Amino acid sequence: MRKLFIAGNWKMNKTVGDAVTLARRLVASLGQCSHKVMIAPPFTALSAVAEVIGNSPILLGAQNMANEEHGAHTGEVSVLMLLDIGVETVILGHSERRHVYGEPDELVNDKLKLAISHGLDSILCVGEKLDEREAGNAEGVVDDQVRLGLAGVNADELSRVTIAYEPVWAIGTGKTATPQDADSMHAHIRTVLTSLYSPEIASNMTIQYGGSVKPSNASSLLGMENIDGALVGGASLEEDTFVPIALYDK
Ligand code: PEP
Repeated sequence: MRKLFIAGNWKMNKTVGDAVTLARRLVASLGQCSHKVMIAPPFTALSAVAEVIGNSPILLGAQNMANEEHGAHTGEVSVLMLLDIGVETVILGHSERRHVYGEPDELVNDKLKLAISHGLDSILCVGEKLDEREAGNAEGVVDDQVRLGLAGVNADELSRVTIAYEPVWAIGTGKTATPQDADSMHAHIRTVLTSLYSPEIASNMTIQYGGSVKPSNASSLLGMENIDGALVGGASLEEDTFVPIALYDK
């Protein structure tokens, strides 16, 4: 039985003070939540939020990291720095990293392997653009991103990875994939994982859906057989919209 995993990606939002305020509210509301819950504040607020969430069940996530441990990489943040301040999971290959900042699959894969080698969990984001879906190539694109993203990752290491299916056209746009379309892509990802690993591993893999998830559509998406959680952007920025999603009872 896969456990629901609800993650909030705060992106480039919130000062340290605002981040601490929201984190305090979430600890109060979600302290007893039986699902896996993670929040990913901006880098500048990670340490302060780490103190607030302390021993609560809420996990601390980062939104990205470098593919090197240290050195001349102006503006980058290392896996060692994330671990040093208590980060437990890192989001990799988010569509904004891929399509706004030009990160290719090979770079995402380097980062994933580096995170694994340091015992840091990852959320590997995959998803097609609108033109790719309209051309009938959505599965092919996601197939490639899963295969290239997981290249060189063995079955044991895969336990440190969650996959997030996030159709690019649904992120921050208010458009959501239908629950059936999302579920069918999740099922397809399990087929790819079966061919790469085994049916058992594919069936145990947590696959989140992301793309304009909000309280009004969360239950229809999270109720689908192959959808094991959500990666939430906009709706994770307020307690009133994140908590109902996180408390969904499958
Ligand atoms: C995201 O940033 O991963 C995301 C899914 O954003 P939103 O929920 O705002 O579409």
